[in-house]
Amino acid sequence: MRLVNFELEGKPCLGVVKGDLIVSVPTAIDLVAERTIIKFPGGTPRSKARHFFLTTGPIPEDINGLLALGDARRRALDQILDGVVEHFHADLELDRLFTPLGAARLLAPIPRPGKIICVGRNYAEHARETGGDVPSQPIFFLKSNNTICGPGDTIVRPPNSTQVDYEAELALVIGKGGKQISEDKAYEHLAGYMILNDVTARDMQSADKQWFRGKSCDTFAPTGPWIVTSDEIPDPHNLRITLTLNGQTMQDSNTGNMIFKIPYLVRYISQSLTLETGDIISTGTPEGVGVGRTPLVFLQAGDTVSVTVEKIGTLTNPVA
Ligand code: MG
Repeated sequence: MRLVNFELEGKPCLGVVKGDLIVSVPTAIDLVAERTIIKFPGGTPRSKARHFFLTTGPIPEDINGLLALGDARRRALDQILDGVVEHFHADLELDRLFTPLGAARLLAPIPRPGKIICVGRNYAEHARETGGDVPSQPIFFLKSNNTICGPGDTIVRPPNSTQVDYEAELALVIGKGGKQISEDKAYEHLAGYMILNDVTARDMQSADKQWFRGKSCDTFAPTGPWIVTSDEIPDPHNLRITLTLNGQTMQDSNTGNMIFKIPYLVRYISQSLTLETGDIISTGTPEGVGVGRTPLVFLQAGDTVSVTVEKIGTLTNPVA
């Protein structure tokens, strides 16, 4: 499933992408709960899914509710939505239910995550290009949640930085919270994956000798364009990851090059802190960032930066 947060009638709304349409989750649930759809086409399986979904737990009211649904309830919801699409697809009047994907304004999938946990130097070539050692243990740092912005939103260079850089990353989205999660249970805690551009003010980073301020300027975490649920990505360590700046390729690697893999990262960080639904873990960037280039490259007003991760999509943001 592709889970989106999009604008409907001027407000954020939860949606699921079905083909070239976004289906509004709250509208679809209202319709099936009100028994507007008495029978799904195709008979019993979706009727069973409907019964199961409506009777086995709270109905999700926000993105965290959607992320926290277990696999079984998420599959049931997916079946219901397929039924809704079949049943109502011809009804163009239902603009509360369907929004053409191409016409939608997508928002950050998780507007205010509790934590944005990032991994530094998790690709060996990137560690080398920035003059750092290849780490023997993961290096974690936080971005604050004021950094979040969505697809198409503008990355704003702050007035006190002239060295704003990009970092293409695969981000993990926590579904079921937990602590002291073992490696073999790590994937059970992931609802899905999205793209995160870990925008960084290098001059602040070097002036402060630590990373918080340079990583946490407003708009420095473009995310999206949606969350792809884990079941659609059986191997998250074999995804091409690229970044273009004004159409020119700057980063081109594969998530298989991560030094510390996803189960290790989840186990390591959850030994001492609780991961909660909606938390984001961004897994680090490969080589090709602006500060590692000769001559140096930094984001300028008028630039367009796009990150593409195979099987997920493309996240594009202008710079001002
Ligand atoms: Mg990074």
